[in-house]
Amino acid sequence: MAKRTTSNYQEHCSFCGRPASQTGPLLSGLDNALICRDCVEQAERIFQVRQTTPVAVDLDEIPTPQTIKDFLDLYVIGQDAAKRVLSVAVYNHYKRLRYNISHHEQDDVEIEKSNIVMVGETGTGKTLLARTIARLLKVPFCIADATTLTEAGYVGDDVENVLVRLLQAAEYDVNAAERGIVFIDEIDKIARKSENTSITRDVSGEGVQQALLKLLEGADVNVPPEGGRKHPEQKLIKINTRNILFICGGAFDGIERHIAARLGSNVIGFKGDERRQTLDRDNILQYVQPMDLKKFGLIPELVGRFPVLTHLEALDRAALRRILTEPRNALVRQYTELFKMDGVTLVIEPEVLDMVVDHAVQYHLGARGLRSIMESIMTDLMFDLPSMAQGDTYTLTRAVAEEKLRMM
Ligand code: ADP
Repeated sequence: MAKRTTSNYQEHCSFCGRPASQTGPLLSGLDNALICRDCVEQAERIFQVRQTTPVAVDLDEIPTPQTIKDFLDLYVIGQDAAKRVLSVAVYNHYKRLRYNISHHEQDDVEIEKSNIVMVGETGTGKTLLARTIARLLKVPFCIADATTLTEAGYVGDDVENVLVRLLQAAEYDVNAAERGIVFIDEIDKIARKSENTSITRDVSGEGVQQALLKLLEGADVNVPPEGGRKHPEQKLIKINTRNILFICGGAFDGIERHIAARLGSNVIGFKGDERRQTLDRDNILQYVQPMDLKKFGLIPELVGRFPVLTHLEALDRAALRRILTEPRNALVRQYTELFKMDGVTLVIEPEVLDMVVDHAVQYHLGARGLRSIMESIMTDLMFDLPSMAQGDTYTLTRAVAEEKLRMM
């Protein structure tokens, strides 16, 4: 109901409560009810939710794992283990959807989904893998950040908001969203601080894990279509998560200790045994097992919901060097295109790239640092680019690049 009480009367939107001075013109209805433009638009979006639209997912042409991996290879350097696991998971996701659509009988086998956890240092390509998969997929896909999630009732996003993003990616087509893929980044940040259950509530950790568990278990979840907190007046949309594939990524800083401790105790008995596998101590993540996630602080129920566990390798010099030039949208290719738009051919001497890699390694910037280092070198050059002559070739030498980096 519009507020018309004070003598200093100003009309308010009956829905959001803001005064006309903030909302602009108000539309009036029966009983002095008023509504602003923003609320009309929001209502329209909510009414657009299509509960019954047929699924827009094309399951006739399922890409094979090899096709998926070949596609990932175009954009992501290395990480073969993770690529293979993801390719199979996505392939099976499609097959499961197709199977479950045509098999509804009680005694039919139900093919269960295989949610995935990817463990790997920050900046090794977890999000890049997820985003690249999304390019190829014909199912709705979204990326959510676990650090923003909190238990219901606390400041932050309710866990259901993960599904709001998916719903938005599906253009509010509930059926399509129910077959989508969700990538949850930084899953390690909701680990509880110790493996022992604490009596006090752990706002950011265990409660969120419990809430997430509900999504992963394949329940009907009520989602506020506009996101944010649920409130009584808001219309909720029911989304069944049974067929939604969840892929989680996390750096799990320090998990190596748990892995090493476990492996250490396992191999003692085999000392001197020729069959004993030699451990690659530098890449200990490759031995990660579900129990290590538990030790790290994920609750066992949650770990149990992620049957597939894979790792990403730390990027060495050779990988960083390849990242500069090889991926389809590699930095060097991007700068070359930018120069081409001004009619200039850019040539970067190989020594420049070696130096960029040196810097990234020296300052522990990893792949993420490559871009900022390249920008520092290229900014001045791009400033002068429009004044270079059309048809020119510009050769970036190590001397020039060093000079630019010194001025940083
Ligand atoms: P993570 O999610 O593991 O923290 P990202 O996927 O966000 O890391 O990587 C950050 C950036 O570094 C990417 O946008 C990409 O430019 C680059 N990068 C990281 N790993 C790779 C890789 N394996 N191949 C190609 N580029 C990579």
